[in-house]
Amino acid sequence: MRYGPPARSPLLELSLSLSCHPMSFSPQRPDGLRGDELPQLLTAVPGPSSVAWVERLSQVECPAITARRDRRRADGGSDPIVWAAARGAVVVDTDGNRFVDLSGGFGVGLVGHAHPLVVEAAQRQLHQLVHGMGDLFPSREKILLGEKLAAITPADLQQSVFGLTGADAVEIAIKTAMIATGRSRVLAFSGSYHGMSLGALGVSGYRDDFRSPFSSFAGARELRLPYANCGDCPMRQTWPGCDTACLRYVEQLLRSPVSGVEDVAAIIVEPIQARGGDIVPPQGWLRQLRDLCTRAGILLIADEIYTGFGRTGAWFACEHEDVVPDILCVGKAMGGGFPISACIGRPDIMAAWGHSRGESIHTSTFLGNPLGCAMALATIDVIESEGLVDRASDCGAWLLNAITDACADIPCAGVPRGRGMLIGIPILGPDGNPMPAGGVTMMQRLLSRGFITSPAGPMGDVLSLSPPVTITRVQLEAFVQNLRQELHSLSDLA
Ligand code: PLP
Repeated sequence: MRYGPPARSPLLELSLSLSCHPMSFSPQRPDGLRGDELPQLLTAVPGPSSVAWVERLSQVECPAITARRDRRRADGGSDPIVWAAARGAVVVDTDGNRFVDLSGGFGVGLVGHAHPLVVEAAQRQLHQLVHGMGDLFPSREKILLGEKLAAITPADLQQSVFGLTGADAVEIAIKTAMIATGRSRVLAFSGSYHGMSLGALGVSGYRDDFRSPFSSFAGARELRLPYANCGDCPMRQTWPGCDTACLRYVEQLLRSPVSGVEDVAAIIVEPIQARGGDIVPPQGWLRQLRDLCTRAGILLIADEIYTGFGRTGAWFACEHEDVVPDILCVGKAMGGGFPISACIGRPDIMAAWGHSRGESIHTSTFLGNPLGCAMALATIDVIESEGLVDRASDCGAWLLNAITDACADIPCAGVPRGRGMLIGIPILGPDGNPMPAGGVTMMQRLLSRGFITSPAGPMGDVLSLSPPVTITRVQLEAFVQNLRQELHSLSDLA
């Protein structure tokens, strides 16, 4: 690999002393990568090595997965970079180019990529026990992780079923709600993203075209509830004068004998819609939704796969409103990079599954994989010991302010929004309306400056940030400066 140890700049020394929180970047890695570096580009982006790897990929991967040059060029883009190494907030590609990762790998790298303590835990576990036997013979790590989740999740959310992906956790939550209530429907919100397996897709309101090819399984025509997207209200009302019209509508649907909305087991909600465009409902909305579910006798499933483990400045985003869901789904950041997820419920709800008679009615081969559990335990330890929940709150507030200031006079930048280290910047067209694929364009422009971001929103019109919470202030300042320059240049083109 071409990347080598970069020199530590005086600016970086200053950043470490100014960063919101003291962080250690030891121990040394053989490649010298510390995770606090600034971008360094050695080639055009993508470089020749990435392009060559993607060419090979195109021969062996279904074309629907990784967008290639021909597709991307139509949108003014290029091939992706191919990741070779990562640590902290830094990713290095196969050309040796160094990027600062503002997406945290879709929010997974909350404690930073390859956190030394998570790597150490993984190495220890690899030597000890890599695989258990799902529901048949558990490992100690699965038990310890279940206990830890019971301790850090709100109130009486105490019993877990593990999965690998976020979608797994959502599937388990849907099954749990059906079993616990004896009813068959789970209602979801417009713009929601709960995963791409058929059950999770069936409760996603993200994009109709993701569901329509699979309509017989994925409930393509299922009703979607209006989310509290107050910037673009589906009820065409204005907060707070609306008196939460969206929830009054939901309550009416549930109450009316002629609405056709019956047999409802649960409502599934993201406390903040992440992939839907980083949409933060107004304070009090989630609490009202909780109360509505209680009144209607249906369960509330909180999907905290993106927002969980401190990303928004609380361990779980529902805690901002003292809301305790009946079922909680977690994943992404939990494994420190290893795919592991969980559906966590109250004991009385989980009891509805009944006792295993030797063959569980829900399981999978890798359920509670010991390596994933050990990495999740280490990740939660890091979040606790480095105070990352508070850091997400403090640094997130600073970042949102800095971006808001930087965007203030730029026509193509909408009003930035978010909570903690989950932030979205709407990209606007010359008419002031959301620019379709504006987030994709900005992502590509920032990539060529050495910053990794991701687009969000069903139209791809939002630039989304969910960086490692351990990212340094200097890395963030460099990003904000580059963001401002690219927004200006996009506005000049319009
Ligand atoms: N739920 C939410 C809120 C998500 O953001 C995602 C993925 O982005 C999922 C579920 C699905 O998770 P996975 O892609 O791990 O299946």
